[in-house]
Amino acid sequence: MSRDDLDPDDWGEVRRLGHAMLDEMFDYVEGAHEGPVWRPVPQSVRDAFRAGLPQEPSGLAEVHEDFRRLVVPYATGNVHPGFMGWVHGGGTVVGMLAEMLAGGLNCNLGGRDQAGLELERQIVLWARELFRFPESASGVLVTGSSAANLYAVLVARRRALGESVREAGLSGAPRLVAYSSAGAHGCIPQAMDAAGLGRANLRLVGTDARHRIEIAQLKTAIAADRAAGAQPFLVIGTAGTVDTGAIDDLVALADLCREDGLWFHVDGAFGALGMLAPEIAPRLEGLERADSIAVDFHKWGQVPYDAALFLARDGALHLATFAAPNAYLRREPRGLAAGSPWPCDYGLELSRGFRALKVWMTLRVYGGRRLGRSIARTCALGQYLRERISREPALELMAPVELNIVCFRHRGADPDRLNAEIVADLHESGIAVPSTTLIGGALAIRAAIVNHRTAEPDLDRMVDGILARGRARLGAPAA
Ligand SMILES: *Cc1c(COP(=O)(O)O)cnc(C)c1O
Repeated sequence: MSRDDLDPDDWGEVRRLGHAMLDEMFDYVEGAHEGPVWRPVPQSVRDAFRAGLPQEPSGLAEVHEDFRRLVVPYATGNVHPGFMGWVHGGGTVVGMLAEMLAGGLNCNLGGRDQAGLELERQIVLWARELFRFPESASGVLVTGSSAANLYAVLVARRRALGESVREAGLSGAPRLVAYSSAGAHGCIPQAMDAAGLGRANLRLVGTDARHRIEIAQLKTAIAADRAAGAQPFLVIGTAGTVDTGAIDDLVALADLCREDGLWFHVDGAFGALGMLAPEIAPRLEGLERADSIAVDFHKWGQVPYDAALFLARDGALHLATFAAPNAYLRREPRGLAAGSPWPCDYGLELSRGFRALKVWMTLRVYGGRRLGRSIARTCALGQYLRERISREPALELMAPVELNIVCFRHRGADPDRLNAEIVADLHESGIAVPSTTLIGGALAIRAAIVNHRTAEPDLDRMVDGILARGRARLGAPAA
C-alpha cells in the first residue's frame, strides 16, 4: 500500500476504532472517581517512549493501545474529584466533544471570514456583558492567563510609550514601573521580563492580613518611584490570588489608577469567573472598572485545557498594540479575506486553534447560572474543609479562606519538611492530590477546590489521609 495522502485506507476500520476511543473517554470521565488520583510514572513507561523517529507506519490500533497502556494511567489526575493541586479545572464531556469537533474542522482562527470567528466574537461580547465593559472593548482568546497578563503589560506599555515603542523599542524610553501585590502570580514578573521592562521594575507591594495589596504601601511606592525619575504605568490587581484566593480591593485600585492615570489590569485568572455566581460577584466590585482583565476558562470555567481570554476596555489601543501590515495577510471587502480585524490583529499568534468552540459550547450547554452554581459550590466546600481543619487538633489553618483555596498544615517538629513529605506520600498513595505553597515563608498544604466533581467525602478522605500519614511520620523513630 503506498498512498501519498494521509486519509484512511479503510474508513470502516477507522470509524470503529474512533467510536471505541470515544466510548473509552466517556468511561474515563464517568468513572473518574474510581482508582487513584495519580500514580507515579514507572521508569519502564518512560523508557517505552524512547525510540528513533519512526519511518515506517504503525497501525492506529497499536498506537492507540500504547496510549491506553502508557499514557492514560499516568495522567495528571485533574479529572478525578480528589485532585486539589495547584489550580486545575476538571473538564467536562461537552468540552471534550468540542475538542473533537474542532479537530475535525481544523479551522485556523487567526483570521479570515469564517463562522468560527463569530463564536470567538460572541465570547468577547459575553465577557463584555459579564464584566460590564463598554462597547469599545475588545478581546482575544489565548492559551492561559500567563499569556493574557503578558498582553496586558504590552498594551499598557504601548499606552505609556506611544506608537514609537513598536519601532524603536525601549532605547531612550523612560523607565516604566509596574505594581502588584507580593501575592501576584509568577507570570507577572515573567511578563515584565518578556516585555523588555525587567522584573526589577515590578514592585511587589506588601499585603494585609487577608493577603490583599496594601493600598497605602502602594501609594508610597508609586510616589517614591516618581521622585526617583521613573514612570509608574501599570497596577495589577488580583481577583483570586493563586496562593490563598485573596481578592485585592479592586475599587480602591480603580480609584487610585484613575487619579494617577495608571493602567489598571486585573489578573482574574480563576477568580474573575466568580461574576457568574451571585454569592461571589459582589466581592469582585471594581472589576468592571479595570482597563483590562485576564481570565481563564480552563479553571473555574471547566473548559478543557487550554482556554483563556484577554479583555481590554480600549479596543482601539489593543489593536494598535499588535496589528501589523503584511502583504500575505491583506484584507479585502469580500471573499475569505474579508471580515477584518481578525484575532491575529489582537495578539502575537497568527495560526490559532478553534478554542472558541469549546468555550462557546460550554457556556451554551451549561449556561452561566449552572456554571456559577458549581463555582459557588467549590467555595462552600472551602468552608467545609476549613471547619473540618478547625476541629482537628493536629492541623492548623495557615491563611483565611476567601474563596475555594485552603492553606493549612500538620503540626509537628520541622513542619516544612513534615508537610512536604505528607503531601508527597499522599500523591503516591493516590488518595488525594493537594499541592503546597509558602505562606509567610512557611510551607503550607494547599487545597484548591476547582474541580466541579469534588465533594465533601473527597475532602474528608484527603484530611484522613493527611492525619494518618502525619501520625505515621511523627510516630516513627527519628531517622
Ligand atoms: C493560573 C493562574 C495564572 C496563570 O494562568 P495560566 O492559565 O496557567 O497561564 C495567573 N494568575 C493566577 C492568579 C492564576 O491562578
